[in-house]
Amino acid sequence: MPQRKLFVTTALPYANGKFHIGHIMEYIQADIWVRFQRMQGHEVHFVGADDAHGAPIMIAAEKAGVTPQAFVAEIAAGRPEYLKGFLIAFDNWSHTDSPENHELCQAIYRDLKAADLIDVRSIEQFYDPDKGMFLPDRFIKGECPKCHAKDQFGDNCEVCGAVYAPTDLINPYSALSGAVPTLKSSEHHFFRLSDPRCVAYLEQWTQDGKLQPEVANKVREWFTRDENGKSGLNDWDISRDAPYFGIEIPDAPGKYFYVWFDAPIGYLASFKNHLAKIGRDYEQTMKEVEQYHFIGKDIVTFHTLFWPALLHFSGRKAPDNVFVHGHLTVNNEKMSKSRGTGLDPLKYLGLGMNPEWLRYYLAAKLSARNEDIDFNPEDFVARVNADLVGKFVNIASRAVKFVPGGKLVAGDAASLQPQLLVDRVKALYEGRDYGKALRDIMALADEVNLRFDTAAPWKLVKEGKADEAARIGSECLEAFKVLSACLKPVLPQLAAQAEAFLACAPLDWANAATPMGAGHQVGEYRHLMQRVDMKLVEALFEAPSEVGAPSPQPCAAGARGREEQPAPEGRKSEGTPGGEELAPEITIDDFTKIDLRIAKIVDCKAVEGSKKLLQLTLDVGEGRTRNVFSGIASAYQPADLIGKLTVMVANLAPRKMKFGVSEGMVLAASHGDEKAQPGIYVLEPTAGAQPGLRVR
Ligand SMILES: [Zn+2]
Repeated sequence: MPQRKLFVTTALPYANGKFHIGHIMEYIQADIWVRFQRMQGHEVHFVGADDAHGAPIMIAAEKAGVTPQAFVAEIAAGRPEYLKGFLIAFDNWSHTDSPENHELCQAIYRDLKAADLIDVRSIEQFYDPDKGMFLPDRFIKGECPKCHAKDQFGDNCEVCGAVYAPTDLINPYSALSGAVPTLKSSEHHFFRLSDPRCVAYLEQWTQDGKLQPEVANKVREWFTRDENGKSGLNDWDISRDAPYFGIEIPDAPGKYFYVWFDAPIGYLASFKNHLAKIGRDYEQTMKEVEQYHFIGKDIVTFHTLFWPALLHFSGRKAPDNVFVHGHLTVNNEKMSKSRGTGLDPLKYLGLGMNPEWLRYYLAAKLSARNEDIDFNPEDFVARVNADLVGKFVNIASRAVKFVPGGKLVAGDAASLQPQLLVDRVKALYEGRDYGKALRDIMALADEVNLRFDTAAPWKLVKEGKADEAARIGSECLEAFKVLSACLKPVLPQLAAQAEAFLACAPLDWANAATPMGAGHQVGEYRHLMQRVDMKLVEALFEAPSEVGAPSPQPCAAGARGREEQPAPEGRKSEGTPGGEELAPEITIDDFTKIDLRIAKIVDCKAVEGSKKLLQLTLDVGEGRTRNVFSGIASAYQPADLIGKLTVMVANLAPRKMKFGVSEGMVLAASHGDEKAQPGIYVLEPTAGAQPGLRVR
C-alpha cells in the first residue's frame, strides 16, 4: 500500500481547568490509532491545543487577577505531565490564541463572506449595566420558567431539565454583578448555515456512510424539512461583543469571533505551527493529508455541521472523518464537570501506577461505536493481572528458561498462523475496534500458553529431551514477538522492553509475523511488568483526606476559628466524629437550598449488574413516584426497606446512570472509613411522618 499522510487531532480542552480522566481516555484512544498507523509506515501528524478563548476564561482570569493569556499559560504548563505520564505522544501542542489561529480565522471568515454566507443582523440580548458587557447564557441566572426553581442558568434548568432562552427566565440577574440585566440590541454576525447550499452539502457529507451509523442517524434529524421545506439548520451566531477574550472580526470594530468559531480552526493552527517547526509547507501539506478528528459525543453538532461547512465553503478541504466516542463513567457514575470523577489521572501517576495498565484497560473496553464505557476497579485489576501479566508477559518469562543460552532453535511457530492474527488485528485497529483486537490477541496468548503447558518442557528436560524443550521454548518466544508487535500501539513501553529482550528490530506490521529464526540470539530476560495490587487501586479512590498524613484541611478547622492540635498516633478518631472532619461552615441559606422530604419506599429492587446499588421507588406526595438508585445494597435486602419511610433530597438534579435516571438521593449514614467501620444506615423518621413533609 502506498504511504498515507494523516493529520489527526483530539478535541481541544477548554483551558480553564486540569485534564480529567475523560480527556485522558480520548487522548489514549487517538494515540493508539496514531501509533498503529505509524507501525504501517504512514506519515502521521498528531496535534492538540488548548482552547483559550471565551467569556468563562476571561471572567476566571479577571477573578484570579491575571490576564487571560497568563491564565491560559499556567493551565498549559500543567499539560505535559499528564501527556508524558500516559505515553500520549502529540507532535505538537499549541493554543487557540496563537498568531496562526488569528490569521486563519480571519482568512476563513473573509472567504465565507466572499461566498455570501455571512449575514449581519441586530439581536436583543441581556446586558449587565454594572459590568458594561453582554452576558453569556451561563452568566445569567433566574427562576426557571417551567418548574420555578430559583437560581437556574440562562440556557437550561438543572432541576427539571427544561431548555429555554435566557430571556425566558423569571426575575433574571447577572451572575457576575447581581445586577438586573437590561435588554440591549447589538449587531451580530451569522454564518448562514440555513442557506440551501450548506444544507445540501451537509446532508451529503453526513449521510454518505463515512460517519459511525449511530452518529449519522442522530445528525439526520437536522435535515428533516418542515411543511415549508425548511430544514432544522439555523444560521449560526458567530460573533460576540467586546469585552471578549477572542479574535477580532475583520472590519467590525468591537466584534469578536465566538469561541466555537475559532476553536476548531485551532486544529489547523496547531498543525500549521507544527509544520513550520519541521520545515514543511502548510498549504501543500494540507492538500496531501487525510484529516481525522477524535471527539466526544457532546460536541458532534459542532464537528459534523459547522466545521465541515466552514471549511468547505471557505474553499478548504473538509475533514475525512470524525470519530466519536462515548463518555467514561467510573463505577457507573457520570463525570461531574467541576469535580471530575473519583479517578484523578495525576493521582494515578503519583501512586506509581503503570500508565500501560490504564491504556490496556481502556483499550479493552473501547469499540468503534459511540457508546459509554465504565471504569470498574475490580474489573481493572482482574483484566490487567489476568491478561497482561498472567497470559502475555508470562510466556516470555517461562519460555526463555528452556532455550539454552537464549539461542533460538527451529520450531513450528508457523502453525499458530501469526500472519492471520496480524491481518485481523490490523483491520480492527484501523476501525478503532480495540476491544476486539485485544480479545483476538489474548486468544492467541491462550493458545501459546496451552501449547507450553501441554508440552510441559520441564518434564522433557527431566526425561533428557532438552532439545525438544528448547524447540517449545523457541516457538513460544517467536509467538511472544508476534504478540508484542500486536500490542505495541497500546503498550509502547512494554513493546520497547520486549524488543530489547528479544534483541529484534523495532516491531512493525511488516515484520510482526516474520520469525526471528533459528540461531537468533535473544537478550537477557528482565521482569517486564508488575501485577496491579488492589491496595493501590483502593488508594486511588480514597478521598484526599485519607491519603498520606499531611494533607491539609484548612477550611474545616479554620472557619470555626478552632485551633487544631495534631492528633497523637492511635487517637486519630478524636475530633473527627464518624471518621471525618466536619465540612466547612455554611449559612442557613445554604441549608435551605437543599429540599429534604419524607419519602415512602413503595418498592425496592436489586439492580442487575451492580453489587452496590438498590433501585428504590419513592413516593414524596407528588402524585407520582420517583426512581432513585442508592448505593446501599451491601447493607439492605430490598424486602427490608419496602413500606418504610425515609428522608430524601428532593431537589437534586436528575442524574443519568448506567441503569437509568436517578431522581433524587436517599439519606444514609456511614463512617468516613468504610473499610475500618463498615455499615450503612438509612434514615427513618419517628412515627407519624407523612410522605412529602419537608425536613427543616
Ligand atoms: Zn425547571
